[in-house]
Amino acid sequence: MRLSKSFVPTLKEVPNDAVVTSHILMLRSGMIRMVSAGIYSFLPLGYKVIKKITEIIREEMNAIGGQEFHLPALNPREIWEETNRVESFGDTLFHVKNRDYVLAPTHEEIMTFHARSVLKSYKDLPQIWYQIQTKFRNEARPRSGVIRGRQFLMKDSYSFDATWEQLDSAYALHDKAYRKIFNKCGLKYFVVGASSGAMGGTGSEEFMVKSDAGEDTVAYCGHCGYAANVEVAVSIAAAKLSDKTSEEIREIFTPGVKSIDELCKFLSISEAQCAKSRVYIHEGKPILVLMLGNDEVNETKLEKIIGGMIRPARPEELKEITGADAGSIGPIGFKGKIIADLKLKDSSNLFSGANKNDYHLGGIDLKRDIKDMDYADLRIVQSGETCTRCGNKLQVFSAIELGHIFKLGTKYSTAMGATFLNENGEEKPLIMGSYGIGVERVMACYIEQHNDEKGIIWDKTLAPFHIHLLGLNMRKESTADACEKIYSDLSAAGYDVLFDDRPDAQAGFKFNDADLLGMPVQIIVGEKKLKENIVEIKLRKSGERSDVQLNDLKEKIDNLFK
Ligand code: ATP
Ligand code: MG
Repeated sequence: MRLSKSFVPTLKEVPNDAVVTSHILMLRSGMIRMVSAGIYSFLPLGYKVIKKITEIIREEMNAIGGQEFHLPALNPREIWEETNRVESFGDTLFHVKNRDYVLAPTHEEIMTFHARSVLKSYKDLPQIWYQIQTKFRNEARPRSGVIRGRQFLMKDSYSFDATWEQLDSAYALHDKAYRKIFNKCGLKYFVVGASSGAMGGTGSEEFMVKSDAGEDTVAYCGHCGYAANVEVAVSIAAAKLSDKTSEEIREIFTPGVKSIDELCKFLSISEAQCAKSRVYIHEGKPILVLMLGNDEVNETKLEKIIGGMIRPARPEELKEITGADAGSIGPIGFKGKIIADLKLKDSSNLFSGANKNDYHLGGIDLKRDIKDMDYADLRIVQSGETCTRCGNKLQVFSAIELGHIFKLGTKYSTAMGATFLNENGEEKPLIMGSYGIGVERVMACYIEQHNDEKGIIWDKTLAPFHIHLLGLNMRKESTADACEKIYSDLSAAGYDVLFDDRPDAQAGFKFNDADLLGMPVQIIVGEKKLKENIVEIKLRKSGERSDVQLNDLKEKIDNLFK
């Protein structure tokens, strides 16, 4: 491709609205442009990378027996009503005005719709169906460029099986395929156990890339490799030991004291002597969750323990249930279920809210003072806590989710009546799995991991072009002739060459663009060296330069791309 005739609008300056490296570099290298918040156009150079990623994904999906579909993005709303997901997606679902359609954020419903009419017998199973298609989600906070868009490309596959063992093997196949895909793409990633959430599946893993731009939080043990989304991560944390002597309960006037920090300061006590209360509503009934000090409630863990959806109580509900406002709530006298975090097990001499504004209680002994209460692991894991597997310290950091594999079970098949006849002639719901990869995220994460201050550093697998050919003075006939010959010879040999043939661009400008765009190999053709039949090769990654005789160029390039 000749740069003089191509649309590759590079930018020298960092665009105002971009803060994440991959976003900045995708804009600066002319690969994407924003149309509106979370909605991007891929320009020719960027789209070449997308096509390379999707080809790698196709190859590996086909290798595990996946069959490629192309489903409509515009879906009748009534199909989504069958699984009640118009409600559960809420504002994230895009609705088409004046018609009963939605823009699909994922395709479980449509795949199940097809499955229920054709997969009628165990003999039709197993099946793996996939597609690479645009998804629409009205994300509340689109950000970081294409990492969180409102329209994005997803590889989504769905497995349909007759037995749970078959589902296990479809899941294992995907796990293997995903590792191959991300390895081929040159990504450093790790796999974490994830939440199956309210969807009620039986297994779920996320493929993650460590990054400050990520919106997921992961707990990781550098020693044994334990890794889990903090939604489900566990740790051993030092429990508050119960004191030998139990004090009497007493009411303390604490005017204006609302937080644990304020309480500690006001009474000159430590965080480890305080119990914080959070009230949630489950099926209309209040639940008080008691945490030690400033520990935060992990709502995913709580939902699992409760066995259903919860939501924090609203201020007016708090007042009605406890008689007090947030900041003064406590377990003593609370009418409703109480669950405490394991760290509080049998604690005594605790301070907590008195269910009366401006008052706290001291001397609480959980065993003595609260008759009916459960303990569970409810904490959000924090850095420095102890790994349950090996006893070393956990790190907690941000990560970007590249992909997700998920044993769905029979949630969708049951909701939509997708049944088959098993070997005994019994009618059973299809057993399903669903598996996603964010295509743009693969590209953005690659750039996050492969760049320097000058720009992107492509490896040959994802590079939009193998070679960047720079003619430094295209007005000179000898340079132009030599470049044309190199361009046609290497193109004929199967290399994808980006030819900077712009006649009036300065050499410095061309060098900067070449480093910004980041093709793995640059061939630099300058007048002086050309007189000795020499061109220069520069490797983008190492910056290593070498002179090569024109006659040896093809062989040298072949060696580099072997
Ligand atoms: P997230 O937690 O980041 O919102 P998700 O759990 O909603 O992701 P899935 O529904 O499992 O994601 O979708 C499968 C894959 O699609 C994700 O692993 C991710 O790579 C990609 N993806 C999801 N939402 C977006 C988005 N808004 N923009 C770009 N890619 C996305
Ligand atoms: Mg999401």
